[in-house]
Amino acid sequence: MIDYHTHHYRCGHASGSLRDMIEEAIAKGFQQIGLSDHSPLFFYEEDHFNPGMTMAKSEFPNYVAEVIRLRDEYEKRIDVRVGVESDFIEGWEDYYRSIYAQYPFDYIIGSVHYFGGYHVFDPKRWEDPSVDPDQIYREYFTLIKKSVDRCFFDILGHADAVKGLKYPASSDLTKEMDETIEAIAKSGVTVELNTSGVRKCGEVFPSPEFLYKLNKRGVTFTFGSDAHSPNELGYAWTETLHLLKELGVSELATFKNRERKMIEISAVSAVGK
Ligand SMILES: [Zn+2]
Ligand SMILES: [Zn+2]
Repeated sequence: MIDYHTHHYRCGHASGSLRDMIEEAIAKGFQQIGLSDHSPLFFYEEDHFNPGMTMAKSEFPNYVAEVIRLRDEYEKRIDVRVGVESDFIEGWEDYYRSIYAQYPFDYIIGSVHYFGGYHVFDPKRWEDPSVDPDQIYREYFTLIKKSVDRCFFDILGHADAVKGLKYPASSDLTKEMDETIEAIAKSGVTVELNTSGVRKCGEVFPSPEFLYKLNKRGVTFTFGSDAHSPNELGYAWTETLHLLKELGVSELATFKNRERKMIEISAVSAVGK
């Protein structure tokens, strides 16, 4: 069992420490735990622009140092991988890349969190009566395409998170989805099965239909619960493995020193909900 997407108190909206997350992973029988807190908002001038969203820029070296310390301390009990969940901010790719190059990351998750002036999970975006849902979906998928085209990360985070607040598109967006899938396949990036989707809208990010098409295009997958507290670690692991089995997927991607290694999914054990 592996979980590559976890957060802790530093971001200001998650609970538990890095150590709590590792202890939980050991208790639940995980072989690997990836620590992947939110990247600071490097594109703001202020050191800590939004304390409820992510850590301060000046805190980033301390975060990475603590992950490395814990990785070494727990070496004999569990495999801890050093990660970060990075924002994708158009125009800032090279800057972000240059910052990450200074640290010994095992992997980087790239996620579109901000577009059109809102966070992806901010309900205010949808409350404006003049809003066109299709336009929001299009804008979001355009950014996903750009993010993988200019890929500085190893894993694409919650690939269809725009559906998370359950506002549907009003027309058929199959074409947009197919173009996004094509861009993902071309980029070679791994896609995570992110089970915060199950918590938010009853369906994994990305959707089974999306996953089916990605799999047909030879895209690799990994697992991330997007845990914001230790008890969410491994959330919906069993259901996710069943979904992968239905798709005929028998391997998950793991990362060390930013190199991908596929591992066989064999034992299915019940973890979380
Ligand atoms: Zn978060
Ligand atoms: Zn995220």
